[in-house]
Amino acid sequence: MTKQYNITLLPGDGIGPEIMSVTVEVLKTIGKLFEIDFNFTEALIGGAAIDATSQPLPPETLSICRNSDAVLLAAIGGYKWDNLPRAQRPETGLLQLRAGLELFANLRPATILPQLIDASTLKPEVVEGVDIMVVRELTGGIYFGQPKGIFTTETGQSRGVNTMAYTDGEIDRIAKVGFETAQKRQGKLCSVDKANVLDVSQLWRDRITKIASDYPDVELSHLYVDNAAMQLVRAPKQFDTIVTGNMFGDILSDAAAMLTGSIGMLPSASLGSSSPGVFEPVHGSAPDIAGSDIANPLAMILSAAMMLRYGLNEPAAAEKIEKTVSNVLSDGYRTGDIMSSGMKQLGCRAMGEKFREFLN
Ligand code: NAD
Repeated sequence: MTKQYNITLLPGDGIGPEIMSVTVEVLKTIGKLFEIDFNFTEALIGGAAIDATSQPLPPETLSICRNSDAVLLAAIGGYKWDNLPRAQRPETGLLQLRAGLELFANLRPATILPQLIDASTLKPEVVEGVDIMVVRELTGGIYFGQPKGIFTTETGQSRGVNTMAYTDGEIDRIAKVGFETAQKRQGKLCSVDKANVLDVSQLWRDRITKIASDYPDVELSHLYVDNAAMQLVRAPKQFDTIVTGNMFGDILSDAAAMLTGSIGMLPSASLGSSSPGVFEPVHGSAPDIAGSDIANPLAMILSAAMMLRYGLNEPAAAEKIEKTVSNVLSDGYRTGDIMSSGMKQLGCRAMGEKFREFLN
């Protein structure tokens, strides 16, 4: 029986519309292959929304997103809107979307594709075979804890304060995402904290250890964040899935992503507990190349694969996309950002067409 999903498309700004239209065509082909009927609804976000409505996230967009099964977002932002007050900037629309959908879990894979191994700044033997997923808590921890601000002390000094705080409920829900993600991968979860120094991290470690008893098929380990950072560049192959708090995850997911060396290849997912997830490339709107049909659409296409796996529970369709990325690269097709000598260079649209040829 044909399955039906309502997908909200947020093309946004810059290269966003270019990579989105390629990805929609890929999804239509996937739909035919896997008997999936995608019902796409396009909505405004970022600079495009500011131009049309004066708001970076119009209420209508949030409502369309809430009523869908998943949200595909390309990218927002550009020079044109850089000098607006913060509340009216494109980036504010993104933060409002995350808050509005209560997306507390951010999943960022760092997978080394053998065809692109030379793009990494690390030695090939260190990064070959790396396949890591960082699960970062997104709505709590030191970025949101109270009190925060810059205060004046009794002696007249300025004192900057942020508070790193987690409740057991916040830790438990991200722990579950971490364990369930590991279950869909190699079954290994490494929890990263600073429990040797921070009380909040001790609670983190206690809760993660407790939740582990619900997931006997997942092998759990713990690392202090300083050691995790070191291990990530020393021997990244030891990691499968990492779960960690907001600030540690912010730093480690960027470090892990850069093991791969190519920003045009990196997807991400942000998940809530009852709302649809948002799936988007890690890169921005690349205004420097917008409109010239040279953007790499593969991070966006891989974001659609994450949508299929983590948002719609369609792992076979997701795998088909991931394998096709590998096949297209193995046959030597490249966009400009990942081009190397002897390879065949394609523009954004042509890469999409080639991709669909390989799918069929
Ligand atoms: P960027 O990721 O847009 O671009 C960095 C560099 O990588 C540029 O040289 C760009 O041409 C290149 N690049 C990025 N994606 C590419 C792709 N798919 N194919 C080929 N080359 C690609 O980051 P930036 O320049 O710092 O930011 C540009 C705008 O994007 C800013 O307005 C910023 O706020 C916004 N931004 C948005 C998001 C998002 O939508 N989630 C994330 C980061 C930055």
